[in-house]
Amino acid sequence: MNNMTETKEDLTQRGTHTSASNAAADARCQGRHLMQRGLPDIKSEAAEHGTTVHDALAKQSPEGLTIEQEEIYDACNALEAKLVAQFFPDAAGAKSVPIREKRYWIGWADGLRHSAQIDSVHRKGTRALIVEYKTLAGAVGVTPQNMQLRDQACVYDHNCPLLTEIGVAVVQPLFTHSPEITVYTKADITRSLAELYQRVNLSNKPNAPRTPGEIQCKWCRAAKAGTCPEYNRWAAVTVTQDQNLIEVPVSQWTPAMRATFLDRFENAQKWLDMNYAYLKLELKNNPDAIPGYELKPGAVKSTIINPQAVFTAFSEAGGTLEQFMECISVGKGDLKAAVKSVTKAKGKKLDAALEGIIGQNIQTKQNEPSIVKKNI
Ligand code: SF4
Repeated sequence: MNNMTETKEDLTQRGTHTSASNAAADARCQGRHLMQRGLPDIKSEAAEHGTTVHDALAKQSPEGLTIEQEEIYDACNALEAKLVAQFFPDAAGAKSVPIREKRYWIGWADGLRHSAQIDSVHRKGTRALIVEYKTLAGAVGVTPQNMQLRDQACVYDHNCPLLTEIGVAVVQPLFTHSPEITVYTKADITRSLAELYQRVNLSNKPNAPRTPGEIQCKWCRAAKAGTCPEYNRWAAVTVTQDQNLIEVPVSQWTPAMRATFLDRFENAQKWLDMNYAYLKLELKNNPDAIPGYELKPGAVKSTIINPQAVFTAFSEAGGTLEQFMECISVGKGDLKAAVKSVTKAKGKKLDAALEGIIGQNIQTKQNEPSIVKKNI
């Protein structure tokens, strides 16, 4: 291992090297890292939302966040403060100033490099606490098995060799308000570092095998870009590989066959959607790309942007306020934002203020149920 000179770009970008955020996926598919190289990173709407909250936490400023995002921001800060007090009991009450949103690097004599972007790290004496924010819902791996956090501990330790203990914790307020801290000793780090190097080494082998699966393919750019034959084979046969499902009509499926279909449905659906999105893009770039097909323009939606002016014109035409109000629907999210700016309330107080204003003047409608897997 060697300490390498970092350029400014290195400090914020993972460049072409492996990184901690891909640890679990790279461990499952050794060919994933090189297969993704050079492919665009298309972010989902949910990922953009997560990035916005992360950026606000890095700056410690909720400015510009939506109400929902600000609630997650506040909860992350509160949980982090709780973890810090728990991990550094002797310093209770003292203000801790963490280093936020910084990428740390480790390099080896054979030229391989690996990085870890750390959301927040608190250090007191020879102990440090690393906090990783997860701002979306859905469980992440419990901390002891979380390879991303283990990588972060290893890389941070490499940069701060005098530490004797590193605690790591995931702060994910939409999943739990009782995050756990996992503590790595020097011996744990030495062991983990050997495994980390092994993984990074395999990920950089030009002929590393590609092994498809739910976790590793989910965010893999090669899957989205339609360039991975292994993913294609795996996803395309997920439903149709069972001959019985093709030959027997759905009304005659046994309970086991129904379960088999549902087990494979999500991946098959994702494969269809990804391929459809790719073909749409092809037609956008080249209208002659697919014989017999073209892009049909989407429907045009119009929104009234100045209700006051419209009401004035409506009144002048003889309309009444009651008639106008029948055309108005108030979005609960927008109203909540308006109530917040009027009352300056937050969290539960804001919810109570909103409910008080709405009172009984609300109608609820439940969507159709969806099929989910039972937690057994
Ligand atoms: S799509 Fe799946 S199998 Fe292909 S490289 Fe990515 S993770 Fe590996």
